[in-house]
Amino acid sequence: MALFVQKYGGTSVGNTERIRRVAQRVIETQRAGHGVVVVVSAMSGVTDGLIKLAREVAPDPPERELDVLLATGEQTTIALLAMALHAAGARAVSLTGAQAGIVTDGVHTKAKIANITPKQVHRLLDDGAVVIVAGFQGQTMEGQITTLGRGGSDLTAIALAAAVNADLCQIFTDVDGVYTCDPRLVPDARKLDEISYEEMLEMASSGSKVMQSRSVEFAKKFGVRFEVRNSFNNNPGTMIVEETPSMESVVIRGISVEKNQAKVTVAGVPDRPGTAAAIFNALAEAHLVIDMIVQNVSAHGATDVSFTLNKDDLARAQATLEPVVARIGAAGMSAQDGIAKLSVVGIGMRSHSGIAAKLFDCLGQGGINIQMISTSEIKIAVVLDESRLAEATQRTHAYFGLNEGAYTV
Ligand code: ASP
Ligand code: MG
Repeated sequence: MALFVQKYGGTSVGNTERIRRVAQRVIETQRAGHGVVVVVSAMSGVTDGLIKLAREVAPDPPERELDVLLATGEQTTIALLAMALHAAGARAVSLTGAQAGIVTDGVHTKAKIANITPKQVHRLLDDGAVVIVAGFQGQTMEGQITTLGRGGSDLTAIALAAAVNADLCQIFTDVDGVYTCDPRLVPDARKLDEISYEEMLEMASSGSKVMQSRSVEFAKKFGVRFEVRNSFNNNPGTMIVEETPSMESVVIRGISVEKNQAKVTVAGVPDRPGTAAAIFNALAEAHLVIDMIVQNVSAHGATDVSFTLNKDDLARAQATLEPVVARIGAAGMSAQDGIAKLSVVGIGMRSHSGIAAKLFDCLGQGGINIQMISTSEIKIAVVLDESRLAEATQRTHAYFGLNEGAYTV
């Protein structure tokens, strides 16, 4: 007998018919002799709908109350799924995050899990029941309801799998797994059989939103075995695995893209200690998430500093920086949206050189201009015009033969 944690996302529980189908899959797993803990999201669109309601009654609702409201989305699903299981003849009990023993810090709307004491979960499993836990929510030590940030049900599932020492965590979603690239951009993108934690993390954080990246980080840290697979069919999914020595030959596992980016350049920044700190502290205090940062070599005592961020945050970033630009004596600030980021990711980049040159060559041949470049140990990212993104991605995918699977050397 194995113990599975199965997580079903919003689309997979999007209506009552789908909830009944999830119940069938859960029953099949249990009938095969396994213990099952199910984690569910709110039905698709529900969380967004609740946020909209909140904004209708208050432009800036208190975050404590927002959490009380948002937690109801997942609570609806756990109860409905438990009922569907009952109707199909299985014993199932629904638990809120708090009842499942999920304790978080007190940062409302983006709480971090502090610890999990899954006493009730174990007791119910021992009784032979299916345990259904509300994703995305927990409670503070003081008993306040909290939520874990958008996409947080993934984190609930991974963290619970670690806490109950599950044999496997299965993330059920509406795609077959992790692909070499977004199939909507590249029709011949290929599903990957496996991917390392590290690669998955880079893919997730650079735009391939199959899973919340915090949950992947958590899984890596605690060695949680998990797979991503489709709740609408029985196709094998993608296993996320510990890196093995043979993966060193995998130079590019996949391409990840991020649209809706914007670029800000602060020009003529005086070349002295503390100016970069002044810029980025101001942005951090405004809770703006910055992605790439590039600073030029200084000439004549001044330098240009550029960074990218989500387009939706651009206006706020400009407003935040205006006084800073004046205070540090920079020459000015310019901004541009309509840009996108393309990243190639692979473990083997650590030990193989020349990949960046190949990527630039591929884009250059297509007459696609690169505006910014950044690299990590296992990733090369370029910023380009959003209008050229699809073409650039298809070109890169074909150039490295990713339709046949990972690019290896
Ligand atoms: N319902 C929450 C959201 O939409 C959490 C989740 O689905 O994972 O972000
Ligand atoms: Mg989700």
